[in-house]
Amino acid sequence: MAKVYDRVALIGLGLIASSMYWAIKRAGLADHVTGYARSEETRQTAREIGLCDTVCDSIADAVQGADLVVLCVPVGAMGAVAEEMSHYLKVGATVSDVGSVKRSVIDAVHEHLPQGVHFVPAHPLAGTEHSGPTSGFASLFDNRWCILVPTDDSTPEAVAQLRALWEGMGANVDEMDADHHDRVLAVTSHTPHLIAYTMVGVADDLRRVTDSEVIKYSAAGFRDFTRIAASDPTMWRDVFLTNKDATLEILGRFTEELFALQRAIRTGDGEQLHQYFTRTRAIRRGIIDAGQDTSAPDFGRGGPTKR
Ligand code: NAP
Repeated sequence: MAKVYDRVALIGLGLIASSMYWAIKRAGLADHVTGYARSEETRQTAREIGLCDTVCDSIADAVQGADLVVLCVPVGAMGAVAEEMSHYLKVGATVSDVGSVKRSVIDAVHEHLPQGVHFVPAHPLAGTEHSGPTSGFASLFDNRWCILVPTDDSTPEAVAQLRALWEGMGANVDEMDADHHDRVLAVTSHTPHLIAYTMVGVADDLRRVTDSEVIKYSAAGFRDFTRIAASDPTMWRDVFLTNKDATLEILGRFTEELFALQRAIRTGDGEQLHQYFTRTRAIRRGIIDAGQDTSAPDFGRGGPTKR
């Protein structure tokens, strides 16, 4: 795979940034990658495990001279980080991010970027419930989607170059506008996470009644919820605070459907339940056919392939 950028800077060194670094190195997509994290502890860990060619103690050192700067911090921190680095960006550099919500990140980051910098937001639809600098692995993005959300400051050349990077890291790339992205993700990711958090919270309340039977006899359905509900609290707090409208709309629909199913159970309407579950089963088949999951019954519990 050919080189795409000379110098890349990763700001925030958690799951996504560390996976990007290993994926960039796997394919030789950049000559030099600098990294910066706000805490000394994370920077120290990064140095110990060889994460990034250079780990910098200041954001200025990390972004200076970089052709691509990728913000890999929680959505709620993007604006402040963009402001902090804005004076040190190279003219002609591309700034991108990996935030799970796009409209609010664009609003927060855009105002801080100087003229002559290309802004191409992105969101890789890949992750695990783990976080931090040691959680990344090179294959995280393989055959997963990465959505680019070009702005008025994104030239076609800058978009094409970022696309080449994500493809080089193994991803399939698509483009969308920010509002559409936030709506789609509210359905496919954000609301399901909230439901998982709720279900695990309910079970935790019940645990006190049933004396830990919920954990002891935890069946596949509940275990899958607990994996999702173990996701990073800061990241997910920010997702809901910044994708408020779309999430609330989907939650409203979800609640209506739940009431309809509740009624079907109460009235013994087996026909309705059967029809509903038949329809949802077909969706699962579609996801497997699209290569976004496997039909292996223990999927998700075998652990990811590490770098
Ligand atoms: P992570 O593993 O928790 O790492 C977050 C990094 O951001 C850490 O290096 C942390 O620094 C830094 N950080 C946290 N709060 C900060 C603040 N207020 N100011 C500056 N830096 C801060 O997170 P991640 O999972 O890689 O997620 C990063 C971004 O990717 C988020 O925007 C998230 O929405 C998006 N994303 C996540 C997933 C996923 O499944 N995890 C998938 C797609 C996109 P310290 O270590 O020094 O505290």
